[in-house]
Amino acid sequence: MPARTGAQFLRGLNDGREIWVNGERVSDIVGHPAFTGAAHALAEVFDLQHQAADVCLMPDPETGEKVNVSHMIPRSRADLERRHKGLERIAEFSVGLMGRTPDYMNVTYAGFAGRHDEWSVNGNEAGADNLVKYQKFLARDDISLTHTIVHTTTDKAKGDAPTGYDDVQLHKVGETEHGIVVRGSRILATLAPFADELAVYPGHPMPDASDVHALSFCIPMDTPGLKFLCRDSAAANGNRFDKPLSSRFDEQDAFVIFDDVEVPRDRVFIDANLAVYNAVMLTGWWPNIMHQTMIRAQTKLEFAYGLAARMAEAINANQPQAQQMLGEIWCFAEFARAAIQSAEQGAFEYGNGVWFPDGKPLVALRAMLPTWFPRVNEIIRLLGSHNHFTAPNAAEFANPSLRPLIDKYLRGANGVSAEARARVFRLAWDFAGSALASRNEQYERFYLASGARNLANAHMFSDRTRANRLVDRFLTEDVPELRATPAQQQRRATA
Ligand SMILES: Cc1cc2nc3c(=O)[nH]c(=O)nc-3n(C[C@H](O)[C@H](O)[C@H](O)COP(=O)(O)OP(=O)(O)OC[C@H]3O[C@@H](n4cnc5c(N)ncnc54)[C@H](O)[C@@H]3O)c2cc1C
Repeated sequence: MPARTGAQFLRGLNDGREIWVNGERVSDIVGHPAFTGAAHALAEVFDLQHQAADVCLMPDPETGEKVNVSHMIPRSRADLERRHKGLERIAEFSVGLMGRTPDYMNVTYAGFAGRHDEWSVNGNEAGADNLVKYQKFLARDDISLTHTIVHTTTDKAKGDAPTGYDDVQLHKVGETEHGIVVRGSRILATLAPFADELAVYPGHPMPDASDVHALSFCIPMDTPGLKFLCRDSAAANGNRFDKPLSSRFDEQDAFVIFDDVEVPRDRVFIDANLAVYNAVMLTGWWPNIMHQTMIRAQTKLEFAYGLAARMAEAINANQPQAQQMLGEIWCFAEFARAAIQSAEQGAFEYGNGVWFPDGKPLVALRAMLPTWFPRVNEIIRLLGSHNHFTAPNAAEFANPSLRPLIDKYLRGANGVSAEARARVFRLAWDFAGSALASRNEQYERFYLASGARNLANAHMFSDRTRANRLVDRFLTEDVPELRATPAQQQRRATA
């Protein structure tokens, strides 16, 4: 089956999956107020790949049918540049606000399948084979995949991963004729209501865990026993003038409970095999997925720059302080663009003929974004001040008695109409101040580990060869003053 349309995607969502929001089990995902905006937005993402087929689609290497370019297993720098264009087009749709559009997991699984040799160790040949077959299914059936890779927090003092056996954490409890049975929980499947399938794979190594926790698999969202508890909705059910972003881009995040879930044998990629679990994510996964997620982040930064500049123009806020803050956002966007370009230029073969970007610039960028994104929001709030709250909504513009007054008293500078001004400031508040904005800031701080952890890792895994050479010149040079003079030596000898 080739790349799907939005209508085909929407038809797959109301499948009986167990999705809970605000205490309610939702049967109609597509029509529910918490989900309808994002469901239709994601349908537009599926349609977009056909509208922009030249950048978004590519022929499947075996069937020749058109599949999304995010499924590509990159085998050269040119492949990565080709993939960049497709990923960027998808990121532009939500201006980077949807972090987990399906291309995120497509890139992940293309990387896994390309490096199946890493999974095919310690007796896991069958698991690696299942993984390769699954990636083809993912691409050809154009599946929307969510994932949960982080262990549930009960007691921070216990550490990040289970020690021995922990009944809260996802684990294997048995075997059936057709597969394995798993129980437990994990955080925090973004996109869950809008996914066709759920993926479980290693988040970080678990040196001291029991083998029963060492699992990787993919299963349909309606698999019996699978339950998703969504966070409070940040979706706004207003029109797109009032809530241009939160009316459509709340991708949701859900806590996952596996209440004795049977995983078919051919969907198991790691079956209680700690050695494999601890080995597979160590090389190419990070730079590969960073390619997708940093293209998204760069798009969001550039959008934020454009938005902030439009705010300043609307009220002619061109004082030096405003220009300085605008320049700050531009710098973030430009650093991000340059880092991605550098990573692509430094791409190399990681093994098995598979190419990923150079990880170093992307590690640096990932580590800084949890600081940059909150600062971007701060700047937008500072630039906007009270103007965020003097931006009438659509109903007020539509009111014939209010409209002339709004047009007169709430117009902007240099001929900017009241409607144009309100559009800018409503968009800005939805970006930086709404419930969705707050969730998005939390996402940027924590997805794929916190900024603090990313900074620490950046240091711990850095190549310090040149840094050491620069410093050692001063630490190892001969300093005569450190040594005793002959006269001093003579005095000591005779003392
Ligand atoms: C909006 C959102 C969406 C998410 N979506 C997904 C998803 O789709 N799939 C998924 O699997 N997971 C998802 N996650 C989970 C995410 O991967 C984790 O939140 C992330 O790994 C951080 O782990 P933690 O929440 O336990 O926080 P911690 O890592 O424990 O951090 C909490 C605080 O402690 C500090 N800290 C803790 N340990 C260290 C350390 N060793 N060094 C330095 N500082 C430390 C950090 O600075 C931080 O401020 C999502 C999270 C959020 C917020």
